[in-house]
Amino acid sequence: MENKKELRNWLDAFGLDHPLVIAGPCSAETEEQVLKIAHQLKDSDATVFRAGIWKPRTRPGNFEGVGALGLKWMQRAKEETGMLTTTEVANANHVELALKHDIDILWIGARTTVSPFIVQDIADALKGTDKPVLIKNPVNPDLALWLGAVERFYTADVKNLGVIHRGFSTYEKTRYRNNPEWQVAVDLQNRFPDLPLILDPSHIAGRRDIIFELSQTALDLNYDGLMIETHHNPDKAWSDAAQQITPETLIKYTEDLRIRKEVGEAAEFKNKINTLRTQIDVVDHQLIEMLGKRMNIADDIGQLKKDHNVSVLQSKRWNEILGKMILQGEEKNLSEEFILRVFKAIHQESINHQEKIINN
Ligand code: PEP
Ligand code: MN
Repeated sequence: MENKKELRNWLDAFGLDHPLVIAGPCSAETEEQVLKIAHQLKDSDATVFRAGIWKPRTRPGNFEGVGALGLKWMQRAKEETGMLTTTEVANANHVELALKHDIDILWIGARTTVSPFIVQDIADALKGTDKPVLIKNPVNPDLALWLGAVERFYTADVKNLGVIHRGFSTYEKTRYRNNPEWQVAVDLQNRFPDLPLILDPSHIAGRRDIIFELSQTALDLNYDGLMIETHHNPDKAWSDAAQQITPETLIKYTEDLRIRKEVGEAAEFKNKINTLRTQIDVVDHQLIEMLGKRMNIADDIGQLKKDHNVSVLQSKRWNEILGKMILQGEEKNLSEEFILRVFKAIHQESINHQEKIINN
């Protein structure tokens, strides 16, 4: 597959003057819930109403979705509000049912994208469809696997495509439920600038308080849209309660988000520099996270040294670290002088941390 302008025809056809917004609950729960949320979103910027009908749960026993019954509720939501509808399909049977109920856009979940066999089955079931198919990133940060899934649809003559960035799972629990690893999506965007790229901040965050800032970062990186889980009573949602926001909050967010994208020749420079600056911001943020992590380990070492009466400064170990870092720095085109300065500062901060622990 190569980049083609046509990849974004389906999105351009909406004629929006703002990024695409897909909103709605994690799961369809009851007919009243679906209709209530759809009506609350009716006059918002959201063009597409989402709801999960079949829910892939990491552990069995959690709410696994209402099944085909919910598709009727979505049809009704569409009739009553005029919004388009989207849901996740994870096998050929889901595809058949979703098409039968006139779902407008289909998405492939993160746990499906990891499996080329299942993706191929779904692509075969959708062969030649005009319906847009949005492919979520696989749970692991593997760009080739993500692109491979997109290509399976493209090859099955599904040409209305897009991707959804929903973050990547990590063993270690961080600030995020799923680590954004922005660079993976930015690399994909650089290779396929016309393939619509949508952020799902809800599944990256896992909590509602950072949905806004994640959405703003995406817009600063020129993403084409947002998919945000929205529920009239988020705390009582049957799945993903902590990360859902109310339709009212969603409307507020869409008013407050800054759209930096401008048009015209001079604007091209501005768009590019904004994108690059946002990439720098992302990396700076990661640097601070990593430094914080390093100091936490240094604290543990300080405690151990205290318990065993060992002195803070271990010169031999320090010289080993420095030697290794200078060599690694060379591979990345970083001067010895720079590495020395950076690591001296890091080392000093570690010593300060450890001394604090030992003297307490
Ligand atoms: C969802 O969108 O509700 C969902 C299950 O997403 P993901 O596949 O990203 O986990
Ligand atoms: Mn969810």
